[in-house]
Amino acid sequence: MPNSDKDQAWHSLDIVSVLSALGATATGLTTEAALKRLAADGPNELRKAKPIGVLRILRQQFQSLIVLLLIIAGVVSASFGEWIDATAIFAIVLLNAAIGFYQEFSAAQSIEALKNLTSPNAKLLRDGQMTTIPSRDVVVGDVLTLEAGDLVAADARLLQTASLKCVEAALTGESETVVKSPDVLPQTDVQLGDRTNMVFAGTTVASGTGTAAVVATGIRTEIGQIAEMISEADSSSSTPLQRKLDSVGHILVWMSLGIVAVLFVLGLVRGTPILELFMTSVSLAVAAVPEGLPTVVTVALALGVQRMARQRALVRRLAAVETLGSASVICTDKTGTLTVGEMTARALYVDGNLYEVTGEGYGPAGEILQVGQKPNADQAKAILELANCQLGCNHAHLVNEDSVWKTIGDPTEGALLSAGKKGGGDRDRLEAEWPLLLEFPFDSDRKRSSSVRKLPDGTWRVFVNGAPGSLLEKCNQFYTFEGPKPLTESLRQDILQQTSAMADRALRVLASANRNLDQVAEEAGSDGIERDLVFVGLTAMYDPPRHEAKSAIALCRKAGIRVVMITGDHPQTAAAIASELNIASDTQALTGAELDKLSDADFLVRAKETVVYARVTAAHKLRVIRALQKGGEIVAMTGDGVNDAPAVQGSDIGIAMGRTGTEVTKQAADMIITDDNFSTIVHAVEQGRGVYSNIRKTLQYLLAGNTAEILLMTACVAIGLPAPLLPVHLLWINLVTDGLPALCLAVDPVDPAVMEHPPRPSSDRIMNISFLGTMFFTGLLTAAVTFAVYIYFIYYAENGTTAQARDAAFTVLVFSELLRSFGARSEFKPLWRIKPTFSLALVSVVSLSLGLQLWSQHNAVLHEILKTSGMPLSTWFTLLGIGTIPLFALEVVKLVRPVAWPVTRTVNGKQA
Ligand code: ADP
Ligand code: MG
Repeated sequence: MPNSDKDQAWHSLDIVSVLSALGATATGLTTEAALKRLAADGPNELRKAKPIGVLRILRQQFQSLIVLLLIIAGVVSASFGEWIDATAIFAIVLLNAAIGFYQEFSAAQSIEALKNLTSPNAKLLRDGQMTTIPSRDVVVGDVLTLEAGDLVAADARLLQTASLKCVEAALTGESETVVKSPDVLPQTDVQLGDRTNMVFAGTTVASGTGTAAVVATGIRTEIGQIAEMISEADSSSSTPLQRKLDSVGHILVWMSLGIVAVLFVLGLVRGTPILELFMTSVSLAVAAVPEGLPTVVTVALALGVQRMARQRALVRRLAAVETLGSASVICTDKTGTLTVGEMTARALYVDGNLYEVTGEGYGPAGEILQVGQKPNADQAKAILELANCQLGCNHAHLVNEDSVWKTIGDPTEGALLSAGKKGGGDRDRLEAEWPLLLEFPFDSDRKRSSSVRKLPDGTWRVFVNGAPGSLLEKCNQFYTFEGPKPLTESLRQDILQQTSAMADRALRVLASANRNLDQVAEEAGSDGIERDLVFVGLTAMYDPPRHEAKSAIALCRKAGIRVVMITGDHPQTAAAIASELNIASDTQALTGAELDKLSDADFLVRAKETVVYARVTAAHKLRVIRALQKGGEIVAMTGDGVNDAPAVQGSDIGIAMGRTGTEVTKQAADMIITDDNFSTIVHAVEQGRGVYSNIRKTLQYLLAGNTAEILLMTACVAIGLPAPLLPVHLLWINLVTDGLPALCLAVDPVDPAVMEHPPRPSSDRIMNISFLGTMFFTGLLTAAVTFAVYIYFIYYAENGTTAQARDAAFTVLVFSELLRSFGARSEFKPLWRIKPTFSLALVSVVSLSLGLQLWSQHNAVLHEILKTSGMPLSTWFTLLGIGTIPLFALEVVKLVRPVAWPVTRTVNGKQA
């Protein structure tokens, strides 16, 4: 039965027939039944999740030009009967492949794991309870519960709706919202866009609520049918940096091959035996071509993603890791992100009187007092009127968990509940005696919420809570304990003045109003109901700033990143919180209304200095981003509501809130922060910068080593000396110094110092002048040291033989490279100031390699393979000492170089 008949005209059946055809009930399936159906029908996915291509990764390890060269070299050696060489070469091919495979496989795995973490969820009924499950586990017969901002998980027939509207552009191309209702459509051949009693997978809920029974999942949905036509953006495709480095890599490959070709010709002219020349050339090519380059980038990015996930930032696109590192502005929400998001009512204003509210948290303990005095009977009556508004229009619930009161639902409404209770209201009685008839939930553009309730005498009353300024415009009367009176201009001014006094104390202010209705016309919508209201009072609540937000903001300042607060709240509340958090002192918020009056050109100028935006709508957010981007900024922007999705999409780094965010926003985002905390964003930026700097330093380490080898070989061949390094030496160096130490560098813990300079300009090249300068300098120095050792052993050492000289050159080069890896951990900081001082992984890898090098001098088999002859321990130590020279030189360069990356470095605003 599940997924039975995809041509079934579900829209023409009534709900009872639909449910019986689906073998379901209006309260959903049991978990057990759902699991059975899932096993039978398969997951609700458009395409089968591709397993990681183990074979593909493996194949790739053997597909490079380098490996091809090596294999040819191996075959050539074998055909000349050089069995040891051939074996060594093939062993090295395999080892190289194994390391490459391991790196790429684990990178692929961690990226795959992340995809699962950030895949969409669906809300539905299981076992009669509302739960959230991953969309891919939805089955036919499940009852979805839909609300604004949800992504519809599967095709479903509506059972129930309340002002439900969907956007079906993904399916029909029509951007207009479609009004939905459960009414039967008798005709069977109704166009997709007109099937108003159905909702479809991949579309979104724009407003209202509803429930719907799933009729098709996965590829059997309407969108599944056309999935082949939709080109799916592949979230794992390569990032701009990867692409850039790929092309750099190509250039380097051809450059190295060019140099090798020149050496080959030079050798021919000098009459070097052709086989020897061939082997040397191939080995040099292998050593010089930075084949590990793409892998290093993938590994560093993947590890960054993993670390971010551990710090509660889930990255949805790999490229975001890179972009994060260059973010220059973070636009953030206030409530819940910069603040704790736990509200406590502190003051009330009703019937011209100001009261304070005592007690902490959401609990009922606390009183309402006027200058320390309990209110009199008339005052109590007024407070109760306000309490009924606070409780009468409210969707939150308070629960006592382990003797801590918590709110389920919107914290603002939780604070209203607790204030209402302190004011003498009784919610249970209110619900029972004044049943709810109709409601218009809060949205951040209207900034109010209202509920219509039926009174015992048969009339109705609407309760409204919302932002004072705009709600006042809907009021024409003023509540007093003796009855309403006209809302005069002076009363209006009075209320606004109370509001701004409260907002100045960083309090969030909500106004409450009500009105008796003779009749209720649902069609009139919120505009018809929310008018001619009686203003009842104000509730001011405190939402303390997050203590970690303050230090995160200080860190942003140090890192040259601007923090911009964007909020729907009152401008003075916003400004007060901004100054408590040191975002700006004494600032004036730019309000949405003011923003509307600015021309694009004027706003471009204002956007450069504005740090607080208040009373904004989603459309304003988009405008803010555009202006900042025009000003050359890389903008990170947070969002939660449906309306925020365009802004999140339009920003360079869209950040969705994991807790309060809607599915639509999450799908539009590059990153989801699971704790809604501002400091998580800043940590992610730090990781992003760290990844970039890890990639850069690893590249530098690798390329400097290659430069050294090329220079050394070129110099010797050019002046007619025998090649200082044998093919097998070059291969060994490639394996020992490039593989594991480079990997350690790529995954080094992020140095907090990355937050001590301004963001990297997005136009900055990874291999800029400073990079190339250091690379060439260290390469040259390493080559020079090795060259000197080689010359010494050839000409000056007692009984110096070429074999001994090679041995020494080989050893000192390996030492230099290995030791230099410690200094390579930071491009700018001297060795002893790098944090953490020791990378355990690197120390182990280097010790292991040094041990191997020592062993190669004292092991008969390795003597054979590496053509080493064994050197006294004292020589070994001397060479180790000489091997520290490039490291020292690198450290000296760091100390004396005046200008470091990027172009200027500032620390705490001062030039470093
Ligand atoms: P923020 O940026 O602080 O999250 P919101 O868009 O949530 O701002 O809220 C803007 C304004 O709308 C608030 O200052 C408040 O006056 C009002 N408001 C917020 N939540 C509610 C609610 N649940 N019911 C009624 N009004 C609300
Ligand atoms: Mg909010």
